[in-house]
Amino acid sequence: MSITCYLLSPRGFCSGVVRAVNMVNQVLELYGTVYVVEDIIHNRIFMKELEKKGIIKVDSVEEIPDGSTVMFSAHGISPQVVDIAEKKELNIIDGTCPIVKSIQDEVKKEANSKRKIIIIGNRGHAEVISLLGYAENTNAFVVYNEMDIDLLPDFKNDEVVYFTQTTLDYLYVDLILGKLKEKIPQIRSSSHDNVCYATKERQDAIRRIASSVDLVIVIGSSYSSNAKRLCEVALDSGVKKVVLIDSIENLKETDLKKITAIAITSAASTPDKLIQELVEFLRERFDLIIKNLENQDDSGE
Ligand code: SF4
Repeated sequence: MSITCYLLSPRGFCSGVVRAVNMVNQVLELYGTVYVVEDIIHNRIFMKELEKKGIIKVDSVEEIPDGSTVMFSAHGISPQVVDIAEKKELNIIDGTCPIVKSIQDEVKKEANSKRKIIIIGNRGHAEVISLLGYAENTNAFVVYNEMDIDLLPDFKNDEVVYFTQTTLDYLYVDLILGKLKEKIPQIRSSSHDNVCYATKERQDAIRRIASSVDLVIVIGSSYSSNAKRLCEVALDSGVKKVVLIDSIENLKETDLKKITAIAITSAASTPDKLIQELVEFLRERFDLIIKNLENQDDSGE
């Protein structure tokens, strides 16, 4: 049986993840043991490998022995946590993605100017938590859905500026923004008014191929915002079957009968070797016609 397999581009690590991964490997080589409070990148398999190499995960920076090395994740960390780390004289390695860093800087600037800040995002996500920290949690509000918007206070004539978590569905952001503008007509955008380029390109690639496939496989961890959004985008685009897998182990339970065309994509935190393993797994079982789709919308950083 032959299956056409579209390999979507881009896939694999985004630039922020490449940077963090290179850093953590160098730091492990130098120091042997490195503490983290949040996964450096949101990929379960990669983090397990790092634990074998010397990464120790703790629940809070207070638990880390004084003077040890700590690495903060690509999603960013709040300045309050950095303060604690400095007081403990930890050797700080900051893996924050430069894009997230520039959002943090702008949030801080707006907060210092006493503007109200709205972050469109998930309040439990590390990136959003870090942004709230830069806004010093005063006059900053997180909204994810219409109910959150209903609960916002009346801003009257206050200056209000919005930011967006980098890994949401960009069409969903547009929808929420429309609702926000109804409630707060004076709201204005920041320089970071929508998702990052790496997120958008992956979503666009799925939207382009959706009508030509009967299955989309997203390789990524279930706690990766990026990966979850790719699944939602595929479903919203009309793909009948969408699976999110950490590795081929999870795919073994998936019924691939009657599938004639598959699109394969991955979260921005998925190691390339997992994509290769999936292709090999499929190649061993099916007559696979592989089509490598180039990125048609490479807007760069
Ligand atoms: S998804 Fe975007 S913001 Fe997040 S780490 Fe990658 S490049 Fe940076």
